[in-house]
Amino acid sequence: MNHNIGIGGKKGPESRRKHLNVACIGNPNCGKTTLFNALTGSRLKVANWPGVTVERVEGETSYEDTDITLIDTPGIYSLTCYTIEEKVTRKCAMDDDIDAIINVVDASSLERNLYLTLQLLELGKPVVLALNMMDVVKERGMELDMHRLPEMLGGIPVVPVSAARRTGLDILLHALIHHCEEGMEEYILDYPPEIEDKIGKLTFLMRKNYPSHCSARWHAIKLLEDDEEVRQDHPISVDSLVDRSYEKEIIQSKYAYIEKVVREILFYKGKKAASTDRIDRLLTHPIWGIPVFLLIMCLVFFLTFTVGDVLKGVFETGLDMVSDGAAGLLEGLGVAGWLKSLIVEGIIAGVGGILTFIPNIFILFLALAILEDSGYMARVAYVMDSVMGRVGLSGKAFLPMILGFGCTVPAIMATRALETEHDRRKTMLVTPFMSCSARLPVYVLFSDIFFPEHPAVAAFSMYVIGMAIAILVALVINGLEKGKVNDSLLIELPEYKRPNARTIRIYVWNKLKDYLSKAGTTIFIASIVIWLVLNFGMSGQVKDPADSFGAMLGRVLVPVLAPAGLGMWQIGVALLSGISAKEVVVSSFAVLFGVANANSEAGMAAILENIHKVDPAFGPLNAYCLMLFCLLYIPCVATVATIKKESGSWRFTLGMMAFQLLLAWTVSTVVFQLGSLIVG
Ligand code: GDP
Ligand code: MG
Repeated sequence: MNHNIGIGGKKGPESRRKHLNVACIGNPNCGKTTLFNALTGSRLKVANWPGVTVERVEGETSYEDTDITLIDTPGIYSLTCYTIEEKVTRKCAMDDDIDAIINVVDASSLERNLYLTLQLLELGKPVVLALNMMDVVKERGMELDMHRLPEMLGGIPVVPVSAARRTGLDILLHALIHHCEEGMEEYILDYPPEIEDKIGKLTFLMRKNYPSHCSARWHAIKLLEDDEEVRQDHPISVDSLVDRSYEKEIIQSKYAYIEKVVREILFYKGKKAASTDRIDRLLTHPIWGIPVFLLIMCLVFFLTFTVGDVLKGVFETGLDMVSDGAAGLLEGLGVAGWLKSLIVEGIIAGVGGILTFIPNIFILFLALAILEDSGYMARVAYVMDSVMGRVGLSGKAFLPMILGFGCTVPAIMATRALETEHDRRKTMLVTPFMSCSARLPVYVLFSDIFFPEHPAVAAFSMYVIGMAIAILVALVINGLEKGKVNDSLLIELPEYKRPNARTIRIYVWNKLKDYLSKAGTTIFIASIVIWLVLNFGMSGQVKDPADSFGAMLGRVLVPVLAPAGLGMWQIGVALLSGISAKEVVVSSFAVLFGVANANSEAGMAAILENIHKVDPAFGPLNAYCLMLFCLLYIPCVATVATIKKESGSWRFTLGMMAFQLLLAWTVSTVVFQLGSLIVG
């Protein structure tokens, strides 16, 4: 936590600056992260489902003479603490460090949002209401009484903003700072007299026992709701007062009040906007919803290949220039042959080869971002909820799985949204089968080489097979343990909307940045290591990679991989190095065969020629098995490390790796053997 820079006796104008810690709190999807990004200039991920922001995140902003540390929190519907999100956010809200709260509210659905607001007001901290999504309110022909609303909320500032369009932000900060200076009037929502009486007595007891506490009334109410955590943290003897849980009455009083507020302040002018019910009847249909989703994803892959191919040309020319230029330059400088080879055939081929897939990756992420921001992905999650339940996964498991299409690491972290450790582990086990973006280059390369007629279909089939295997694995586990899960996903379907350009830009850029930084670190190092093991052998530096250490290592794997149609030491090396990051499978082929740009026509022809030199029979079936193996075997080291960290168990992590290896081998072997029968 940042501390007040005015403290410490510093002189000068700076020492007069004030400092506030402010938490952004609100329901999921009300735009907290968008607001946080807009205020602090950060680029946090904005998303439509829980599990994305599961930790508090801080950023800095300032207004006039006040520096503000802003904290983004996971979205919650109430201040109870059943889920991880609720625990994190509640702890943050109650934290003594937090000076004030910006309660972000989706103004287009006040009934739901105000419940949390009423709870936050009871905390006794300064609260400012940021009425977000005002653009949506207008579009739908709704009107809010901006005088009556703050009156009914105990006089707190209520500021209409649109985080996405960045309007009202200055007024919000202004109101926040002045509200903090004025201090908070204790707001009282009247509960039935019997309860008010108890609250009064409990508040008195709280104040007596914990005089420094600011939110005595809130604690009193929570004690009446029989909130376990509050009871444990503040052991005062209340048995005579809290003879039972009064939670139901307290909730009812709040909702009754919210109803009254909404009735008084919300007006519709003209008709309500046209609803999207008819589209939703198809998109969220329990049976049709899934084929429609697959169709849309298929379209995405089609675009990934066609449009990606057009953009690829630009990269190819660039990479050829770099490669030729570097070779010429190094020669001119009289650099030793081995160093030139390391730079041109090792690093440029390894890293550069990966960079040429940027157009494909870009289109994939652009499509995912649009699908997500338009509100469609939430519907897919909704449709999948029942499927998940049937295969014994928690409804919430689908969220990490969808994230897995981007990168498995955040997907594994998102399993935190699941309630039990058992469900979490099951979800971690199946999430790596969702094809992450790192696997895309492998699919693109081998589909383009071996399935030139229908590369998109070949690649798309990997995604479908991955999902099918995830579901099968879940089914088998479920059959084994006969347990049942009924933790279904409570997802609210957001309105469809035009995707926000800034949100999309941030999303896509973050993903590309990850990809680039991986190319600059993991893949860079892996390329050097691969070059080393392929250029040195027992007799020192070797001319023919077949004499290298790498070849020795790869040959050990040949008998194991042969039944799967992958009996080449080069494939052994590529798969081994692919554990560092899946893209490296492509890099290794580039380095192995001395191909400067694996993703170009010439590069692909060279790879094919070299493969056929080793094994003339290596055909589409072998290539398909290679893709299958890449899909299913051990995920990258980063994922393995994350699984270890999140599960806290080496036994689970190692067991999972062994299982994945076995599965990859079995599936590709079965496919190869059956396929050979049919083809041969
Ligand atoms: P969070 O879950 O509260 O962090 O919400 P996000 O910041 O992730 O936003 C959820 C969605 O609402 C995103 O698709 C945003 O683009 C969108 N959004 C945020 N603010 C506004 C707004 O003022 N107007 C509109 N129309 N959409 C918004
Ligand atoms: Mg968020």
